[in-house]
Order: sequence, then structure tokens, then C-alpha cells
Amino acid sequence: MPRPILATIHTDALRHNLTRVRRSALDARVWAIVKANAYGHGIERVFDAFRAADGFALLDLAEAERVRALGWRGPILLLEGVFEARDLELCSRLDLWHAVHCDAQIDMLAAHKTQVPQRVFLKMNSGMNRLGFTPERFRSAWTRLNALPQVDEISLMTHFSDADGPRGVADALTAFEHATQDLPGERSIANSAAVLRHSTQTRADWVRPGIVLYGGAPDFPENDAAHWQIEPTMTLSTRLIGMQSLQPGATVGYGSSFVADAPMAIGVAAVGYADGYPRHAATGTPVLVNGVRTRVVGRVSMDMVTVDLEPLRKTGVPADLGSEVTLWGRASGGAVLPIDEVARAAGTVGYELMCAVAPRVPVAVD
Ligand SMILES: *Cc1c(COP(=O)(O)O)cnc(C)c1O
Repeated sequence: MPRPILATIHTDALRHNLTRVRRSALDARVWAIVKANAYGHGIERVFDAFRAADGFALLDLAEAERVRALGWRGPILLLEGVFEARDLELCSRLDLWHAVHCDAQIDMLAAHKTQVPQRVFLKMNSGMNRLGFTPERFRSAWTRLNALPQVDEISLMTHFSDADGPRGVADALTAFEHATQDLPGERSIANSAAVLRHSTQTRADWVRPGIVLYGGAPDFPENDAAHWQIEPTMTLSTRLIGMQSLQPGATVGYGSSFVADAPMAIGVAAVGYADGYPRHAATGTPVLVNGVRTRVVGRVSMDMVTVDLEPLRKTGVPADLGSEVTLWGRASGGAVLPIDEVARAAGTVGYELMCAVAPRVPVAVD
């Protein structure tokens, strides 16, 4: 028998979340962000649910080829644009739209020999200070692009640094509006947090939701998935493969970091950091055993995690070898453990956990 670990992708939840985004996106067209292999879910596994999107946005040219190979004829956007000049040939061949965030990319376009002018999204740096032209330099970049025969339509984009937090989007939005005033072209500005929290101010032609499609609350813990009415799209589950009865003073795991202060039962679950479960998930990290919420105790190992079985005993739910352990997502009985809560206990965000599920974990789609 294979190890009992499994990641399950929930197609109904992916569909539901896309519908939920549309409700907040007003009448904007929706890019389904499928970078990082659809946030670890697998592009091929989410494709069916996201066919109802207006386009797919990602970074990697090989991933763009995979979306075309699935038969998608609609828009595909490369969020970071091309990395070298010959990428433009693939853009022509696969009809990819691409971001332009720096002068070197304009140089590549100017030198590109093509019969088919390309659609580009000119990116403004509105304060994140990663990619994009500063507001002062935006207009001259637009003018340069607009003069190129290689360029067809120019759309305008920016990406917020603080749409999920108290700083909000006001300053960035003002900078963008000022720099793009009177320029023609479609606009795309909102990520998940902006779509959910600032939908009216960030209203534009295209929105770019990622995490919300995958059931993560972009502004957790201020708001959770239930607040935003989004559903978990990935469950990571396994089974108990061992049990121990501890006497007071007994310790658990490497480094003996957990010490029992009373007699207690613990279970050993077949999942560890080599599966992508975060090693930083400290004692207290929530986990479900047979649908009952309990906690991780002791250090996460490469292939195993130890869990407290006392909450099951107290609620009269039996636990045994083979009992279902839900690391995040949906338990069989319907109980839900939001990935955001697990991420927080491990000092990270749901995004990272989804993306980090290891190749050795088998994946099912339901
Ligand atoms: C990843 C990304 C998004 C989506 O962000 P979420 O927070 O997951 O919604 C939107 N726009 C750009 C440019 C991105 O790189």
C-alpha cells in the first residue's frame, strides 16, 4: 500500500471562488492567475473550473504553452513579460500578451522581427518597487512603445503593495491615475485583496485574482475565508500510522521539545516537511483527526507529524491506526480547517503552503 498521504483538488470550490470573485469584480474581466503551477494545484487540474475566466495570467513561458495545449484560445498574459529576446517569438507563435516593465524589454521589442504586432501591458511601479516604470517615467515609456510597429495595443497595469493592509491603495491609485491620465488603453490594477476590499476604487477593465480563487483570504487574520465566502480548493490529508500513550514527563520528537504534563495519547501522522508540511508548524498548530480539531505536538519531522489525541477522547470520537488526519482543507465529515490558520501557526501565508506541496504527494481531483 502506498503511503496514505494525498492532496485533493476541489473543482466545485474553484468554480465557486471564481463566481465569488466575479461578484466583487463588478463588470471587470477576470484573469485567473495560474502562476506557480496554479498556486501548487496544477494548471491541468484547475483548467476546467477556470474555463469560465476571461484569461489566464502567469509568468512562465512553459506554463503558457501548457495552457495553450489544453485548448485555451483566449487571452494569456505573461505577468513579468519576456526574459530574453527570443521569448518574443513564442509570444507571436502562441499569441501571448506580455507585461513590459523595463527599458530592456522595449529594446527587445524594437529589435523583434514580426509580422504580428503584439499586445502589451505597460506596468507602472506604484510603490512596490519591484517591477515597473516609475510614475515620472511611465509616459515616455508609453510614447516609445506606441511608436513601435511591433506593438499593437497598449494596456496599462500596476500592482499594489498594500491592498491587504491598513495602508490600503489610495496613494498607489492616485499615482497610477495621475501617470495614466489621458492615455488610451485598458487598465488592470486589482489583485485578490484589492478586488475584495477596494472593489469600487480599483474598478478597471481587468482584475487579477490569485489567492482568492484558491480559497485563501488575502487579508488573514483580519478577515478569514468564511468572511469572504470562499471555499478551500485543496485538502492535504493523511492517516495515523502510529499511536503512543505518554506518561507525565515523557517527551515527543526530535529535540524533545514537547513534554507531556499529564497522561495523554498521541497519534503519528504520515506527513512531514518532505511533503511540504511546514517544519515551522509549532506545537499548537491546528490539525483535524477524524474531523475533530486538535493540535500538532513536538517538532515536525521529514515524514511524520505527532498530534494530540486528547480532544478526541474528550469528545468521545475514537481514534485508531488509519484514522483520517486533515492538515488543511476539508475532512470527510465536512469539518474545515482553513489553510490560513495553519500557515499563521507556521509563521507564513497560505500561498506558500499551497505552492510547497511536494512532488512526492499524490494528487486527486474531485
Ligand atoms: C500574483 C499576482 C497577482 C495575484 O495576487 P493575489 O494576491 O494572489 O491575488 C496579481 N497580479 C500580479 C502582477 C501578480 O504577480
